[in-house]
Amino acid sequence: SIPVLTLDGPGGAGKGTVSMRLARQLGWHLLDSGALYRLVALAAIRHKVDLADEAHLAETAAALAVEFIATDEDLVQVMLEGEDVSQAIRTEAVGGAASQIAAFPQVRQALLERQRVFAQSPGLVCDGRDMGTVVFPSATLKIYLTASAEERALRRFRQLQEKGMDANISSLEQEIRDRDERDMNRAAAPLKAASDAIVLDSTDLDIDAVVNKIHELLKA
Ligand code: C5P
Repeated sequence: SIPVLTLDGPGGAGKGTVSMRLARQLGWHLLDSGALYRLVALAAIRHKVDLADEAHLAETAAALAVEFIATDEDLVQVMLEGEDVSQAIRTEAVGGAASQIAAFPQVRQALLERQRVFAQSPGLVCDGRDMGTVVFPSATLKIYLTASAEERALRRFRQLQEKGMDANISSLEQEIRDRDERDMNRAAAPLKAASDAIVLDSTDLDIDAVVNKIHELLKA
């Protein structure tokens, strides 16, 4: 069977960068499942779909015309309806809307098979909230990557600064706590570590240390 490595955890713990590096180093496919939820949210906003209308949102998810194009280092181009939306899906507003629509079981159901088809030879690295608990329950290795909310807000702050964007640390931390709260307390696929996941706290670890640790675990 095809090896699958799952990385779940709260936003800003480093899953995105870690999974991109691992996928590149292993030569495996990559699934950024958060991007799918963000794309549904962006499509819904653009098509003026009510963010409380579960059935209509599920239709939007099922019909999503999306494409992921691997570019150079640490970059995956995300296309929606033929347009590059790599930047547009990364805003806090779209992240918040994604977390809102991700609470609907019909939306999650519509995205389930679309995620499973990513498991192709020679392997898959996937990142999200429910990769190990729902989408790939029999994954080869499950990691739950977390970090303190303060540290995650600081990382986000630095990321935004690098892009020349202005931000406020305490409002970022509040947004992170609000999103954690919503992701952990929803009825449909709440954010939690799978019972057989290995928990890694990256508060005091840099990206390289986390990546090396996971390579070791894969070899074990
Ligand atoms: O990881 P990212 O911040 O891109 O995810 C955006 C939102 O999508 C999360 O806050 C979460 O609510 C939702 N999501 C999810 N299940 C996943 C991935 C993301 O519910 N597997």
